[in-house]
Amino acid sequence: MTERRKTRQVVLRHPTNPVTVGGDAPVSVQSMTTTKTADHEATLQQVYALAAAGADIVRCTCNEEAAAEGLARLVPRSPVPIVADIHFQYRLALAALDAGVHCLRLNPGNIRKPEHIKQVAQEAKDRGVPIRIGVNAGSLDPDIEAKYGITPEALVASAERELAYFAEVGFDDVKISVKASNVPLMVEAYRQLSEVTDAPLHLGVTEAGPPPAGLLKGTAGIGTLLLEGIGDTIRYSLTADPVEEARAGRQLLEVLGLRERKGVDLIACPSCGRAEIDVIGVANEAMAAFAERELPIQVAVMGCVVNGPGEARSADLGIAAGRHRGHLFIQGQVVRVVPEGEMVAALIDEAEKLVAEGVEARLAARDVGAAAEAEADRQALLAEKGEDANASEAKVSLIRKRTEGT
Ligand code: SF4
Repeated sequence: MTERRKTRQVVLRHPTNPVTVGGDAPVSVQSMTTTKTADHEATLQQVYALAAAGADIVRCTCNEEAAAEGLARLVPRSPVPIVADIHFQYRLALAALDAGVHCLRLNPGNIRKPEHIKQVAQEAKDRGVPIRIGVNAGSLDPDIEAKYGITPEALVASAERELAYFAEVGFDDVKISVKASNVPLMVEAYRQLSEVTDAPLHLGVTEAGPPPAGLLKGTAGIGTLLLEGIGDTIRYSLTADPVEEARAGRQLLEVLGLRERKGVDLIACPSCGRAEIDVIGVANEAMAAFAERELPIQVAVMGCVVNGPGEARSADLGIAAGRHRGHLFIQGQVVRVVPEGEMVAALIDEAEKLVAEGVEARLAARDVGAAAEAEADRQALLAEKGEDANASEAKVSLIRKRTEGT
């Protein structure tokens, strides 16, 4: 991966859990509550759920006075920094600052009066609260859109205009986003933006829609930029429970090696004619069980013992099915053979022990004879199903026979 682009840092000053964005700080994950912020208890509950799913920062809308009051009640109890999302009404930005939020998000497309923008920046500066300039392709300043159209240049020009207003009051505690729902447009806008500012960048594909398409769009845009070294904090925008956004953000960073793994990385074979179990069912069952545990290892679920342990030998732990039994293996070496119905339970049990005791200890504790039993199952399956378990060759012969006759 390309080295991360150097950005300056901003700090969201939560009293016990401050989050630094930019520079060499880890890329952070954000999500947004969907509750009415005025209902501060429900919102706080969702903030906790998002934090548990991997969100480092949570944004709440501040769309009315009652929402600002809700923020005043929930911010002191939040486990993570809270960002107030402001649209149109600069007075609500001031109210959110009064409520003690750790960051503001302003949309330059809809708070347009320079004196209002400067007043908010001045008050944020006095309190040490950073602001995200959240440019959105769907709500550009009309004169910028008239000049550039909906283009990367327009998104960047909009961010630059807002930066200039902030500069007038000596405020540079900013991060910037230039989101669009069109992935190539969003990617190009961030590339151009990263050339003209060293402010930390908040990445996102806006209005990406429900999963799986929304997840794909978010991953395509955010992942592309992160691999180019661009981006300091990320948010998936999904039409779904925001817990899914937080989870996806965290998982993307883990997959790219940008954050330490917290949970299991489950890999599974795609299944084929050799499969001895319902691979999808077992993989889903295992995934649900692992979701409740923080075990930072890679675990493989493989449909058969013929190829499974070999193909998944780089996994920390795996299980392969064969002749109504599950073969548990650590780094490709079989350590236990269990009845088929106990496969998932055995996998969880071994994963917990592996994390607690380490590979050497678990290999030393393996069942004597497990490897021989597993090899016997493997050979029996090979003898039973042969090399052509998917019957491809038989089908090919049939096709040839038919075409010969025509
Ligand atoms: S050969 Fe076995 S491990 Fe490989 S895809 Fe088929 S069932 Fe899965």
